[in-house]
Amino acid sequence: MFVALTGGTGGAKLIQGLSHELDPEELTIICNTADDFVLYGLNISPDLDTIMYTLAGLGDDVKGWGIRGDTFTALEQLRQYGYEAWFKIGDRDLATHIERTKLMREGFTLSQVTEELRRALAIPATIRPMSDQAVETKVATSEGEISFQEYFVKHRWQPEVKRVFYARIENSKPATGVVEALGDAEGIILCPSNPITSIGPILAVPGMRDAVKQSPAPVVGVSPIIGESAISGPAHKLMAAQGWEVSAYGVARGYADLLDGFFIDTEDEKHQGRIEALGVKAVTTSIRMDSSAEKRRLARELLAFMRK
Ligand code: GDP
Repeated sequence: MFVALTGGTGGAKLIQGLSHELDPEELTIICNTADDFVLYGLNISPDLDTIMYTLAGLGDDVKGWGIRGDTFTALEQLRQYGYEAWFKIGDRDLATHIERTKLMREGFTLSQVTEELRRALAIPATIRPMSDQAVETKVATSEGEISFQEYFVKHRWQPEVKRVFYARIENSKPATGVVEALGDAEGIILCPSNPITSIGPILAVPGMRDAVKQSPAPVVGVSPIIGESAISGPAHKLMAAQGWEVSAYGVARGYADLLDGFFIDTEDEKHQGRIEALGVKAVTTSIRMDSSAEKRRLARELLAFMRK
């Protein structure tokens, strides 16, 4: 079994590739839940939803979130009731949030709810939230502390970031089955997700980093950075705010205690020696995943590295 740690966008692309190159029953996904929030009284888990929709073949590859072909009638109606409606929820997507919220109010954990949704969508891979306790990524900006969703979606990652932190992380623990999956894994993949707001919170759940470190499985990562910028989104800004070097090397250094191998873009060949000086094998290849063929090729290369 292979275990992948992921957020929503870059991670979902690689998960799609992996699910085609592996028997999906051989794939366990540990998903960031520090972006989860409550809107209109509904429990929303953006990264879990993106991964679920991707694996169910429902995902919108162009937008990178939501359900392909979804309509936004309910959101329009909410606007009429005076809501700002900055977070886009499609009509079919809304059904997921209604079901999750209903089950959580009945007392089911996020793991149990995720399992119910997975079964209903006939997804063969295992999907686990990083934790069943609520953790919230907060962004301290020049305009005050806001949630990651407010920073990312409402303010379109424009405010100047002073610091990022994970509220209530110290009260969280890895969700059911997560530590066991890491211990039993044949390989562990750190997806090319935002190192500060996607992989960061997962590894910060008490006990998680040690579980990855102690696993006998090879650990391999993929850079979300090419040159000095993220392929999409604000990872470069958030890395800089946290004092990380903004480069593929900076990401490798952040995970160096865990990694056996790190995949960087051929454009970043200059970092290869520096990464290897950290004791991590640096593999240069094309890490952009714009097409299904590219997703599958990168997934194949990672699997070959871990099986060596
Ligand atoms: P979020 O939860 O929606 O923020 O999603 P993730 O954290 O999973 O993904 C965001 C990261 O994916 C960004 O830092 C991007 O640079 C990275 N990313 C997006 N597309 C690609 C791609 O095609 N290849 C690689 N290597 N990274 C990508």
